[in-house]
Amino acid sequence: MASVFTHAFVALAAGKVYADEDAPARFWFLSAACAVLPDADVAGFAFGIAYGDTFGHRGFTHSLLFALLLALAVVALCFREGRRGRRAALVCYFFLVTISHALLDMLTDGGLGVALLAPFSGARYFFPFRPVEVSPIGVGSFFSEWGLRVIKSELLWVWAPSALCVLLVLSFRRVAARETGAAER
Ligand SMILES: [Zn+2]
Repeated sequence: MASVFTHAFVALAAGKVYADEDAPARFWFLSAACAVLPDADVAGFAFGIAYGDTFGHRGFTHSLLFALLLALAVVALCFREGRRGRRAALVCYFFLVTISHALLDMLTDGGLGVALLAPFSGARYFFPFRPVEVSPIGVGSFFSEWGLRVIKSELLWVWAPSALCVLLVLSFRRVAARETGAAER
């Protein structure tokens, strides 16, 4: 796993790019929740589910199918209002936010890979380039030398690029809006 803070940060950065100014509080809460939820699979260890199982860590909850089902459920339950096109866009958004978790884990340098195609295939995947230090499982071990190394590598490889993307997109939008305004005047 990457750390829980980093998964949530990426989701909030994505939300900043996607959302209108007046996005409701539940939009932000659910964005962070969808990005963090896949790691709920660590609870399986307590029930004897092995890391490498379909429902083990980085298993089904890190798959494309899970991301799609979660996105559909979130929009069906929490965004009932609005036009169909807008709700379809929200499904795409929550799918991307959820799968961002798995993609980020695929950049980490430890553990088993991610079962992107579960439950249809048990294959575990990593990206060929894995610069992010894998985060320890469990809060206790996070407050250690290892935790510090994780924070440093996540700041460099995830927080900084995400923040830069948001800044670029928002600045581009501001300029585009100003030019449209000028053209209309
Ligand atoms: Zn994970």
